[in-house]
Amino acid sequence: MYRSNTCGELRISDVKKQVTLAGWVQTVRKFGAITFVDLRDRYGITQLLFGEELNAQLDAQPLGREFVLQATGIVSERSNKNPNMPTGDVEISVQSFKILNKSAIPPFTIQDDTDGGDDLRMKYRFLDLRRNAVKKNLELRYAVNRSARNYLHENNFMDIETPFLIKSTPEGARDFVVPSRMNPGQFYALPQSPQTFKQLLMVSGYDRYYQIVKCFRDEDLRADRQPEFTQIDCEMAFVEQEDILNMFESLIKRIFKDVKHIDYTEKVERMTWEDAMWQYGNDKPDIRFGMQIANLKSAFLKGGRIQATGELINGAGFGVFDNAETVLAIAAPGCGDYTRKQTDELTEWVKRPQIGMQGLVYIKCNADGTFKSSVDKFYPEEKLKAIAAAAGAKPGDLVLILAGREERTRKATSELRLEMGKKLGFRKDDEFKLLWVMDFPLFEYAEEENRWVARHHPFTSPKPDHISVMIDNNPLIENADKYLEHPYSNIKANAYDMVLNGNEIGGGSIRIYQRELQEKMFAALGMSEEEALHKFGFLLGAFEYGAPPHGGIAFGFDRLCSILGGSESIRDFIAFPKNNSGRDVMLDAPSTIDDKQFEELQIKLNLKG
Ligand code: ASP
Repeated sequence: MYRSNTCGELRISDVKKQVTLAGWVQTVRKFGAITFVDLRDRYGITQLLFGEELNAQLDAQPLGREFVLQATGIVSERSNKNPNMPTGDVEISVQSFKILNKSAIPPFTIQDDTDGGDDLRMKYRFLDLRRNAVKKNLELRYAVNRSARNYLHENNFMDIETPFLIKSTPEGARDFVVPSRMNPGQFYALPQSPQTFKQLLMVSGYDRYYQIVKCFRDEDLRADRQPEFTQIDCEMAFVEQEDILNMFESLIKRIFKDVKHIDYTEKVERMTWEDAMWQYGNDKPDIRFGMQIANLKSAFLKGGRIQATGELINGAGFGVFDNAETVLAIAAPGCGDYTRKQTDELTEWVKRPQIGMQGLVYIKCNADGTFKSSVDKFYPEEKLKAIAAAAGAKPGDLVLILAGREERTRKATSELRLEMGKKLGFRKDDEFKLLWVMDFPLFEYAEEENRWVARHHPFTSPKPDHISVMIDNNPLIENADKYLEHPYSNIKANAYDMVLNGNEIGGGSIRIYQRELQEKMFAALGMSEEEALHKFGFLLGAFEYGAPPHGGIAFGFDRLCSILGGSESIRDFIAFPKNNSGRDVMLDAPSTIDDKQFEELQIKLNLKG
């Protein structure tokens, strides 16, 4: 027996028991003839006391950090208790010990506040994983996993594995490919998601499927992405959108309850994509706070058709506004007393390349009802007052206005809103606010390719009353500049995203389940009949054998964990993540392969450039 107890287990009630512990040496502190050792395992830390009688033995076999040690002794009450440690009332008076394995000096300290930089910790990830902070994240991940599985199992979902070596399922990203030795010159693709498999399972009659599954997408790793990531992937047959929304908001609420002990009893709010874009400037609004965008002027909204005339601001001789496609404003509560320095800082902030604006116009709404603005010259007080009112500003608030090209301005205003929300303390880690965003456009127009692309994926159904628009109209666009006038611009999808605190945590749709409509969809995306058959013949075929109505959703498991854990980085919640260049620096992967492997695959490298 290696151990009788764990290092996190012993309490004052265990005093006088003889125990054996095994773990890693965290620290060694020698005081004259006695030595204290903190012994650590997954469960905690226990203090060991080596008395004088073990001195000679310790001198002969000195202990170092991260040595693996087994110690037997008597649980004793500590004279110097540590209230910050669960085991802090006791220590083990060691009777005998054995070094189970030595350790080289670790390249960084295995402590909460480690001295190791990111790269070093990634290289020695197996050591980093010993640290409390990382362990807590993995524990949270496992708790989310368990909670999801329990809920789904209780609701009759079946976990069914789907293959990793498949044929490409385009979902907007690039595939990772794997050469086939047995079929020289041919390649498998790794799944971007099990999308078509879960739909086939519905055709097979497994009406509630789930899987906590790896997905692979060969994307540029901007922001916080990983080339392989995990989804809670779900599909249901005989459902309408409402059934899915109810089933899966309950899943997330259950996870909140099990993992965070939060009773999220309120109904999850719903917002159309158009409202989200119009009022928050993006499709995943953080609704923990208001500060909605006021549309002072807007030519169009891609995929939506809202107009704002600009009558409040046009014609004052202020060229920036007069010539702008879009002018948007937000009112920052209580910021009307911002100093020149503070407004200058905000201006610099919007000019950063990531935000990309030329400048920022402000209106200070003074407490006495007067106004002070950076465009006083063009707009009399009456006008400023009207603009401030349109932005929903009260006395004491600061109105911030951005102007320029529609897409960029809307995005920048959305970022500015989030930034102000953060500055003003409206985005708290421990407050959770869910939102369904719905009625997305079915298509997006890809200007470079002059064709429609599916906004979600090609298996998403249009809203029932938009199906005829899709069938009755030719997808071809004669005048690329006028694609917004094409009826396809207006078709909405039976698709929904779940948003948590401004992050998309899941997305799905009601699917197409009739061959004809699916064929029409492929054609709308510019696929020839042959191409559709070559890529998706199996699915089109399956739809001829009694495909039930179905729909589903997939949650980004890593992201969900990171939000619940109050962290910005999904890497912290993955045991062995890749770095920003998609490398596993511990394994040093990707790497070259042996000549023999190339030979077997009958592949010759011919690298360009
Ligand atoms: N397969 C989709 C995705 O990965 C999710 C879904 O539609 O269920 O985004």
